Order: sequence, then C-alpha cells, then structure tokens
Amino acid sequence: PAKRATGHGKNLWVEFVALAMETKAINLGQGMPDFGPPQHLIDALCDCSQEAKNNQYTRSQGHVRLVTALANMYSRLMGRQLNPMTDVVVSMGAYSILSHAINAFLEEGDEIILVEPFFDCYQPMAKIAGAKTVFVPLRPQGQYAGHSKDWVLDPGELEAAFSPKTKMIIVNNPNNPLGKLFTTEELTVVAELCKRYDVICLMDEVYEWLTYSGTKHVRMATLPGMWERTITVGSAGKTFSATGWKMGWGIGPEHLVKHMQTMHANTGYCYPTLLQEAVARALEVETARLGQPDCYFTQLAVDTERKRDEIAEVLREVGLEPIIPDSGYFMMADTTPLGIKFDSGNDEPYDFQFTKWMTREKGVATIPPSAFFSPANKHLVEKFVRFCFIKDDATLQAAYAKLREWA
Ligand code: PMP
Ligand code: GLN
Repeated sequence: PAKRATGHGKNLWVEFVALAMETKAINLGQGMPDFGPPQHLIDALCDCSQEAKNNQYTRSQGHVRLVTALANMYSRLMGRQLNPMTDVVVSMGAYSILSHAINAFLEEGDEIILVEPFFDCYQPMAKIAGAKTVFVPLRPQGQYAGHSKDWVLDPGELEAAFSPKTKMIIVNNPNNPLGKLFTTEELTVVAELCKRYDVICLMDEVYEWLTYSGTKHVRMATLPGMWERTITVGSAGKTFSATGWKMGWGIGPEHLVKHMQTMHANTGYCYPTLLQEAVARALEVETARLGQPDCYFTQLAVDTERKRDEIAEVLREVGLEPIIPDSGYFMMADTTPLGIKFDSGNDEPYDFQFTKWMTREKGVATIPPSAFFSPANKHLVEKFVRFCFIKDDATLQAAYAKLREWA
C-alpha cells in the first residue's frame, strides 16, 4: 500500500460497531438515532423517485434545487446573500466535505490545528494530506467541570499553536463528544488568530440544530472578517435524523468552495440525485417554518433535551458523574466513582477497557472518548465514557434498566 494508506488501519467506528453487533448490546455508542427521519422527507424521496430525471446523474457541485434550498436557508442563518452555484458544495457526508477541504488546502508539511476533543476522522485525513497536526485541548475548569461550558480553551495555549506554517484550524461547534457550545467571545479569540496568521477556519457544525437550555449556536462565518476564511460543514444525516443518507455540505466563499468542488468532481463526481432532491424539498418545508414550534429542527431539539435531562439523572443515580452538554447528542460521564479495575497487563487506555467490558458483560455499548484526543491529552478523559442519547425512549429505558442492575 501507499504510505498514505498505512498507520490508520484501526478505525474506532469499525471496531465498536462490530462489537455492538456481535454482543447485541443496547447501543448507546455510535452517534445516530434509532428512529426514522420526519415523514415528509420519506414521502419526498418516494415521490421524487417516480420522476425519471431524479434517477440520473445531476450537477457535480450539488443538485440545483438542493444548493438553492441550502443557500436560501444559510442566507437567513448567516445574514448574508449566498450564491447557490458558487458558495455551496454537496458530497458524501460531512466526512467527505471535511476531506475535500483538508485535501484542497493542505500541502505536505503544512500545519493544521485540531481543537480537542476532535471528531476522530480529522486526524487520519490530515495525515493522508501529509499535514502536521497540532493539538490544543479544551480543559476542564472548576471542581468536576460538570457542565460542557466548564471546558475552555486557554487563549495563550491556543496562540502558541499558531505558526507561519499553520494553514487551517478545525473547530467542532457544537462539539462531539463534549456537547460544548462555543460562546461569541471564545469564537472571537479563534477568529482573531485566524486573521492574524491568515488561516482557514474549518467549522464542523453538523449538530447546529441541537442546542439546549435556551443556548444559541453562534456561527463563526458571521463574525467580522470571517466569512472570507471560513468553511461551514453541515450534514443531512444530523439535520434530518437520517445518518444513513450520508449527505454533507460545505458553505463558504467562492474562492474556497471552488477548490472543494474540484476535489469532489474528481473523486466522486456527484452525490445521489434522489437523496438531494428529497432533502431539497424537505429543507424548503423547514426553512419556511424556521424557529417556529412546528419546525422539525425545533421539535427534535426539544425532544432531545428531555432525553438529555433524563439520562443525566439516571447516570447520577447509578453513581456516574455526567458532564451536562449544552448541545449535540452525546453525554460524557466519569466512571471513577464506580472504582472498577482492570488487569494491569492491558495497555489500552482505561476508557477502551471500560467500554468494551461494559458492552460485553453489562450489555450497554458506549464509546471511549480518549479516541477524540491526542496521546498527550488522553488523560483528560481516560476515566470517562460517551453515551449517545438520541434514541427511542424504549431503547433508553432498556439501557437504564441494565445500568441500574449493576452500577
Ligand atoms: N463531524 C462530526 C462532529 C460528527 O459527529 C460526525 C458524525 N456524524 C460527522 C462529522 C460525519 O457526519 P456524516 O455522517 O454526515 O459524514
Ligand atoms: N458521528 C457519529 C459519532 O460520533 C458516528 C461516527 C461514525 O459512524 N463514523 O458517533
């Protein structure tokens, strides 16, 4: 194999999805709902499949009806008029959008800053591009840092990570797995450094609609001087609870997006037409009722917030210490109070041993959060596990019963 295909053969999701399937554990691991998308999306898919042209190739950069719907929605969200033809690119999941951005802008030896915890795929993507990764962690402040907002960047540490070689920084807001939502002040610190060092800001905002307790998602692209250097990444999978559709989009200025369109045109050409047509129709419906109680995005957030509060209570009841997330659909919880020990001969991080043991022996699958940190910073979360709580209430109740049995 080529060098770029080696060194990252072990994939967290491949391993943990297989384990959950093999053990038939209740799966609060991989981040996805176990319920379906809104009915109008399914109906749109069925309807549009009847039309011949929707079963053929479409425009490479993005199906016209979809990029138009996306440009309309994000024009409203970002308070600027977007051009659907030049400012949008659609590809296979947020994964491909991230990959196109990294490969379009990073040369061998360039530096890319990853804010930790980072979604794990950023690291192999940077490596494939030949870039050097530089890590800056969110660090807990306060006694137990029992809330996602207690995890903060140290501005001095962040600044020290920037160098003349820095080409890009990736910030995941809302953050997976912490559920942290960055404040305007926190984003401004990042923005000022990006401008000073002429760095592209790749914002992974796939959980943009899932914010709780009246908090607000602030978009980096709306900060002064940041539209020109920001690529915003979104996902139909997260937006419509349809992770299997694997549709992602990148939003940004023409001078950046055109290079991602080039990467996309020459690696996959176009994303499936049917799915783009259906998502376009569904976005038209939801954009018309944005912010209203009957908007799917509003409803999903309300429902998921209730699940967040419930799982937090159960985790506390069984002796774990959760970090309450402001956003997203994951909850980290400290397992230290349970005092469970493993064979000292195993050199895997504690959270890997814990999650595998809990999946096998206790029937509840979760994800080890140290996978989202560089080796030097894994210790920050090594005693934690990540629960995904965007599940049917019956699934959650079954998982709670298992937890109550043993923890
Ligand atoms: N970014 C983050 C932070 C994620 O959690 C995920 C997982 N869905 C992705 C990107 C990838 O999204 P997609 O399924 O659209 O490729
Ligand atoms: N983003 C989801 C998670 O964090 C799923 C990732 C994946 O399946 N590759 O769990």
